[in-house]
Amino acid sequence: MTTYFNYPPPELQEELKRIANAIVAPGKGILAADESTATIGKRFADISTENTEDNRRKYRQLLFTTDDAVSNNISGVILFHETLYQKADDGTPFVELLKKKNIIPGIKVDKGVVPLFGSEGEGTTQGLDDLDKRCAQYKKDGCDFAKWRCVLKIGKNTPSYQAILENANVLARYASICQANGLVPIVEPEVLPDGDHDLDRAQKVTETVLAAVYKALNDHHVYLEGTLLKPNMVTAGQSCATKFSPEDVAKATVTALQRTVPAAVPGVTFLSGGQTEEEATVHLNAINAFPGKKPWALTFSFGRALQASVLRAWKGKDETVKAGQDELLKRAKVRFLAVFSVTALVYFANLLKFTALLILT
Ligand code: 13P
Repeated sequence: MTTYFNYPPPELQEELKRIANAIVAPGKGILAADESTATIGKRFADISTENTEDNRRKYRQLLFTTDDAVSNNISGVILFHETLYQKADDGTPFVELLKKKNIIPGIKVDKGVVPLFGSEGEGTTQGLDDLDKRCAQYKKDGCDFAKWRCVLKIGKNTPSYQAILENANVLARYASICQANGLVPIVEPEVLPDGDHDLDRAQKVTETVLAAVYKALNDHHVYLEGTLLKPNMVTAGQSCATKFSPEDVAKATVTALQRTVPAAVPGVTFLSGGQTEEEATVHLNAINAFPGKKPWALTFSFGRALQASVLRAWKGKDETVKAGQDELLKRAKVRFLAVFSVTALVYFANLLKFTALLILT
């Protein structure tokens, strides 16, 4: 096994670190608005809205023209390719709208999940072939970070060794290509919540998957300080008969992360993975409140858990744009409180300690 490697040049390290830290600045998180055309079609179907290019543009315009206060709680937005090149009604490119709000544009660069032949319904994620060229272009076009999603299924015989290794390796290769082009890679190995498995099994699978991911990132000499992890929270399967408390979920999640995620990683930005808006927020709050070693920022990169109420309030109509925007502001603020309440408490406790030390010395 060779141990020769070159880290990125110091300026690139600094740039990647700066971007990653800005995304997980205290109390801030990511709005994942990178639904593919097919996925946003499903969300639009729920509100009886036609899935046309202009409706997709109008919906993303609603999100990106929400009051500037939204940037108190949202540091980055993940875009889909089409959205990156769309403009608001007045001709302003969406990227400019976001940058004016001090929100960092990011881009989904994977090309979706494909089956692993011969497996028990498992998959890998494609999109590596032209990734280098696409990343270079996205950086030029204003993006500073990227996302690539892999999925792993829990079943009697899954995730298999093949799926764990293949997905870890493809994530590492993706991360390395992103960094070469100045994009912070968000590494997303999602362990799906489908199934009747309990919390222990979800925790063990998450630990095994994350351990493989960090081994692969190390093999590919990925600069961890310039990456972010986007994992599932550790929850029991959606059809598990036993119900677990938010504290149980927090313990399983933080323990799995402690055992596998190096302290060099600046932040963990959880996906919501089909949890309701309330569940995702309560769990995020419990995770932040859980006592113990947590050397990374623990925040959100929610899609459904930030947008479900926005879509319901908007309903695809011009007259209800403001109602949708009000929901986004409200949802972002609540997520912020889930992350920030604990950060603020720790801050004030440290301030008190510091004052006491000053007085005593
Ligand atoms: P959810 O929060 O809806 O799971 O989406 C986040 C995401 O970006 C999944 O890749």
